[in-house]
Amino acid sequence: MSNGIQAIRGMNDILPDEAPLWEFFEDSVRDWLRSYGYRVIRMPILEKTDLFVRSIGEVTDIVEKEMYTFVDQLSNESLTLRPEGTASCVRAVLEHNLLYQGPQRLYYTGPMFRHERPQKGRYRQFYQIGVEALGYSGPDVDAEHIVMNARLWKRLGLDGLRLEISTLGSADARARYRARLIRYLESHHDRLDGDAKRRLHANPLRILDSKNPAMRDIIDGAPRLTDDLDGESLRHFEALQAMLRRADVPFEINPRLVRGLDYYNRTVFEWTTGRLGAQGTVCAGGRYDGLVEQLGGKAAPACGFAMGVERLLALMKECKVEAPALVSDVYLVHQGDAAGSFAGEVAEAMRDHGISVVLHCGGGSFKSQMKKADASGARFAVIIGDDEAAAQELSVKPLREAAEQVRVGLTDAIEIFRKK
Ligand code: ATP
Ligand code: MG
Repeated sequence: MSNGIQAIRGMNDILPDEAPLWEFFEDSVRDWLRSYGYRVIRMPILEKTDLFVRSIGEVTDIVEKEMYTFVDQLSNESLTLRPEGTASCVRAVLEHNLLYQGPQRLYYTGPMFRHERPQKGRYRQFYQIGVEALGYSGPDVDAEHIVMNARLWKRLGLDGLRLEISTLGSADARARYRARLIRYLESHHDRLDGDAKRRLHANPLRILDSKNPAMRDIIDGAPRLTDDLDGESLRHFEALQAMLRRADVPFEINPRLVRGLDYYNRTVFEWTTGRLGAQGTVCAGGRYDGLVEQLGGKAAPACGFAMGVERLLALMKECKVEAPALVSDVYLVHQGDAAGSFAGEVAEAMRDHGISVVLHCGGGSFKSQMKKADASGARFAVIIGDDEAAAQELSVKPLREAAEQVRVGLTDAIEIFRKK
């Protein structure tokens, strides 16, 4: 390691050796989202702090302790690096009146920032793919999201993912449950940890999400939200289950699933794996019918999910998924002035035909250039010396199979590269 400046803890460089897996993942995700008719939206990474406080909720892990917030020295405004994408996405949709055009199926990808303790699968800058369906009341679109997830896992070669679902009911049902939960937790007050005591009246549902093992028993004995459901939420939840059964997507109902953000109602779900240690949740989402109105829009139902890219890539490695290698078609070797300028022209002409070419730079003997060609992983070496330059021809040497070197014109060479 150098003595120079280093990256911030929990913020990773993604190096070229990891590129094949990232690109395979990103290409697969893009095709997958297109195949369901989702369109991309890109939002700024920085937003006004209030946006997150109002949408995620004041008494949540994210807002209480995980946000990168600072005061802009010029405007004196409090700004925050986005810890998640839903709030920004809804803000953008409202700001640009997208819902007037009708319901929207949207997605975004990019870095999110949370000031957490860095560890395997938990970083301070991490990537998410976020998918949001706005203006749909479900449960068909709730089911679409979950079925989509199952299709992506298959396409990426992932197995062993478990799906847990639950429902948070309506706002009223949640309020009734909240009161019941507070009474229960108060009766065990002496056994609550510090976080739970603090949250008891501000946000008791979040206590159910506690990761403290000492809280396990109390949480297990708590009343269940699913027992307080209103009729409509119950029907919504049952319809969702029927759709998942029809689509052959196995699930478990986990009544303790509350999710870490305040804006959810009705459907919530998480995909988890036991193969990544403590950070086993790779995708999570649900319905947030109140958020659009809460952020100043005309009420519109919505649901969505976010996937943690680093965790999914780690799982792909665990599942021994081989990403296709990212190698060039041609490594172009040349020596001498005439050969050098001919090589430059040839490389551009090949690229015009969709052939990927690494043009050797920096001189050196044919032998050392051929070594580089081999190490690059390219399928062919193209060799241009004085002879070739004078004849306007190329020597083409297959590098990945035992075949003869041939001397041909540019058009024939392109044919050869295309065939394999
Ligand atoms: P966790 O319980 O692991 O903290 P969360 O409930 O805070 O997760 P969400 O806000 O639902 O996570 O984010 C969706 C997904 O983004 C998570 O399921 C996870 O895969 C990923 N994720 C969240 N925080 C991080 C992080 N700090 N580093 C890497 N991935 C993360
Ligand atoms: Mg978290």
